[in-house]
Amino acid sequence: MTVRRASRTNGGVRRHLKVVGQTGFVDRPASGARTNEAEPGVTTSAGEASRRRPDAFGLHGLPLLTDGRGRAYTYLRLSVTDRCDFACVYCMPRGGEDDHAERPDLLSFEETARLASILCESGINRIRFTGGEPLVRRDVVRLIDLVQRRSGITRLVMTTNGSRLADLARPLRVAGLSGVNVSIDTLDPDRFQQITRGGELKRVLAGVHAALEAGLEVKVNAVALGGINDIDAGNLVDWAWGLGIIPRFIELMPLGEAARMPRSSFLAQEQLIGLLGARVERGGGSAIDGQGPARYLAAADGSGRKVGFITAVSNEFCGSCNRIRITARGDLRACLASREASSLRDVMRAGGSDLDVAWAVHQALGSKLVGHLFADQNATEHSRVGMSLIGG
Ligand code: SAM
Ligand code: SF4
Repeated sequence: MTVRRASRTNGGVRRHLKVVGQTGFVDRPASGARTNEAEPGVTTSAGEASRRRPDAFGLHGLPLLTDGRGRAYTYLRLSVTDRCDFACVYCMPRGGEDDHAERPDLLSFEETARLASILCESGINRIRFTGGEPLVRRDVVRLIDLVQRRSGITRLVMTTNGSRLADLARPLRVAGLSGVNVSIDTLDPDRFQQITRGGELKRVLAGVHAALEAGLEVKVNAVALGGINDIDAGNLVDWAWGLGIIPRFIELMPLGEAARMPRSSFLAQEQLIGLLGARVERGGGSAIDGQGPARYLAAADGSGRKVGFITAVSNEFCGSCNRIRITARGDLRACLASREASSLRDVMRAGGSDLDVAWAVHQALGSKLVGHLFADQNATEHSRVGMSLIGG
């Protein structure tokens, strides 16, 4: 196996200094400061897998994406940048990540569209653009248009912080985007600014309205943070329901910056539900909508409105995982918490054929674990996972 960016593994042997923090997850490299690499500790492989491709692979069209445990992959989260105009306290270090991909490191528009097209032929039927903040990628509307035309896919959606949505909602809709999940953790402008380290709530709310007017399907995602925005949860639900939007609460995952936060910041599903008081039906149990990891509770007033919960920690959903992730540099990450990556960009730039790229994807999925190990107190890598680098 060819290992790129060997400095990330310290000569193949990872040495860490365990620091027992309040979360029990804090861990730093023994060598001291973070290196300049975007994601220290990630091992990226490429190339050799494609040389070992069996002759029979793809003879009758590209095989569907599955893993050894029978999970079928139909959903791609595609990060188009590792940059962001916010630096949320649970996601990015103050001042942003140490290292961003330079333009030549990023997948070009052509490479992105080619990958999307290969993956759609392999069974992917929904693509979510993410980042960093996807709307800060220059010409992102043209990128989406290209992906749509090359892959022919109709289910294109995006997760965004909404800061540029007011201007871009309509062009995005015209380019083929059908929906946006806008991240809004609170409707209190001061707390919003604190959590995002500078974000302007007014602009984001203007973006939500523009998205609705443009005909995009809108959902709102909030990361619930104990002692920070928990008191705002009910307001957020009332506001979203008032606009006909489904609000969803995301349980804080102990990855990246969040792994350094105090345990009191983590709210489990039951606590999240408790924040909503009499708004939701408790007895009926939550239901999965069939598309993703969210579970939904109905409004208690029988109006048919609902609120979603994405609870990766207290209610692991890995057994039904249907998603793969590709970073802005073209690394395939079979799992958010995994430290293994497979560079599809390198396969393409080495002259690999579409079959070689598809084979590299199959190889990477073959090594996917059953679960994510978030709850493993001995897992040493969680603080080193950059959500903004992988795309959440
Ligand atoms: N910048 C865009 C945004 O904020 O919507 C897209 C990228 S962001 C990494 C994707 C999602 O991940 C956001 O909804 C964000 O709130 C969520 N997120 C980031 N760090 C998280 C963490 N540690 N636990 C749970 N969700 C997190
Ligand atoms: Fe940026 Fe999204 Fe991360 Fe916030 S959650 S810092 S908006 S990438």
